[in-house]
Amino acid sequence: MGKQTGFMEYSREVGTERSPALRVKDWHEFHAHCEVELLQRQGARCMDCGVPFCHSGFLLSGAATGCPINNLIPEWNDLVYRGEWEDALERLLKTNNFPEFTGRVCPAPCEGSCVLGINAPPVTIKNIEYSIIEKGFENHWIVPEPPFERTGKKAAVVGSGPAGLAAAAQLNRAGHSVTVFERHDRIGGLLMYGIPAMKLDKRVVQRRIDLMAKEGIRFVTGTNVGVTYPVDRLLRSFDAVILSCGATQARDLPVPGRSLSGIHFAMEFLHLNTKSLLDSQHRDQKFISAKDLDVVVIGGGDTGTDCVGTALRHGCRSLLQLEILSRPPNERAPDNPWPEWPRILRTDYGQEEARIRFGSDPRDFAVMTKRFVGDEKDHVRGLETVQVQWVSENGRMAPREIPGTEKFIPAQLVLLALGFLGPENHLLDNLGVKTDTRTNVAAEYGKFATNVPGVFAAGDVRRGQSLVVWAINEGRGAARECDRYLMGETVLP
Ligand SMILES: Cc1cc2nc3c(=O)[nH]c(=O)nc-3n(C[C@H](O)[C@H](O)[C@H](O)COP(=O)(O)OP(=O)(O)OC[C@H]3O[C@@H](n4cnc5c(N)ncnc54)[C@H](O)[C@@H]3O)c2cc1C
Ligand code: SF4
Repeated sequence: MGKQTGFMEYSREVGTERSPALRVKDWHEFHAHCEVELLQRQGARCMDCGVPFCHSGFLLSGAATGCPINNLIPEWNDLVYRGEWEDALERLLKTNNFPEFTGRVCPAPCEGSCVLGINAPPVTIKNIEYSIIEKGFENHWIVPEPPFERTGKKAAVVGSGPAGLAAAAQLNRAGHSVTVFERHDRIGGLLMYGIPAMKLDKRVVQRRIDLMAKEGIRFVTGTNVGVTYPVDRLLRSFDAVILSCGATQARDLPVPGRSLSGIHFAMEFLHLNTKSLLDSQHRDQKFISAKDLDVVVIGGGDTGTDCVGTALRHGCRSLLQLEILSRPPNERAPDNPWPEWPRILRTDYGQEEARIRFGSDPRDFAVMTKRFVGDEKDHVRGLETVQVQWVSENGRMAPREIPGTEKFIPAQLVLLALGFLGPENHLLDNLGVKTDTRTNVAAEYGKFATNVPGVFAAGDVRRGQSLVVWAINEGRGAARECDRYLMGETVLP
């Protein structure tokens, strides 16, 4: 423990992000570097608790409590407090292949279970993680580390999101020859084409991919396994396969008027936007523009927030974000005690930016969309909504419409960010891989093996749409079990 009285002397300081008014004018990241002294004061606040819940990583009431990859948080907090950054980096990389991703996009369940959080704001763990890894890159402490020798075994990873990348990094470390297949034109999965550039700079993703390529991993883009690359060839050419294809089937809103033009799934909007940005700085115009339009985003989660931030940067005329669930409380409710993930109202970057641009939070809670209304060209011109109240029906909470609250909201662009139903099934069917009742790949957590010998599954394809940090956890775990399958024992953690 760095400073025994640190938690009493210092309060939480998070450093400043770029101002919302400025950052909506570009696509650069909104994170700003923190002063070293500020980070050291935060490191000093860590109490090195007997039971460090922050790094425990288990599920409590259905949500992660503590860090899902068991980052050794108290250890690197102490090292940062002492200014021993290189040692902090060494400890961080023991558990996390990609701290530069989690340090930017993780919702930080570690902070939700920090013991200081019982009666004070938690340590800024995520900021510290971000700064350790960025210092590592700045100081060239991070260099390609190819394995000393190869095992002669070949492994294929299908899907290049964080689960696939973590699996590939670990399998390569164990000496296997790894090929990562990706159907899109760029590697990274949702790190590249889901999470927008202002939250995660794509040069940061590419920096890691380049490093992995130098370590000997082969990346093959534009290859849709099961469609343009037959599965029998896959099984013939590789000794083992890890499926990390994500959960990309979007949830639809099948209300009248859904087929009107101008209504898009969030991922179509976000993917095209980032691709056009990277290909041509938007000069090719191959994206769905929100410029000068009234935009409604349906869905109050992270994906919806990314649509809000993107539509603002296009220069939309007005913006609303509708959520069918009730507004969460500002503080933890009595049935949501520490160390559970706090289910409270959070104002993310997109809402903050919208507030500055339009003067109010764009979110409206407990709103149900009844139908979309079109113009004479069958383009959406608005939606009819009604306010709902959540009531218990047969032991389950269900929305009940409140009479007299019907409303018409004008919109020429509607973005559906209602979550994801599970993986697409052509590849799974072709491979004969069994799925569970939620249509995810059936593979026990911890073993990650599917019913097909030598085929493993990790990340969203197995657990459903989740978080980058869980994808890394699963990629590492699947690699460990795959290594055991290939070698009879494993050297991987
Ligand atoms: C818009 C959005 C924003 C998000 N923001 C955050 C956030 O801020 N923080 C956070 O922690 N989580 C966030 N998430 C969730 C997080 O991105 C995912 O949980 C994580 O990326 C899952 O990783 P994965 O590797 O399992 O799958 P993905 O990242 O989905 O990668 C799967 C890849 O497999 C490829 N693929 C699929 N089938 C094939 C095939 N047959 N052949 C070849 N390739 C194939 C896909 O093209 C894709 O690139 C967000 C999700 C979305 C949609
Ligand atoms: S990966 Fe996420 S949960 Fe783990 S230490 Fe980093 S911010 Fe916290």
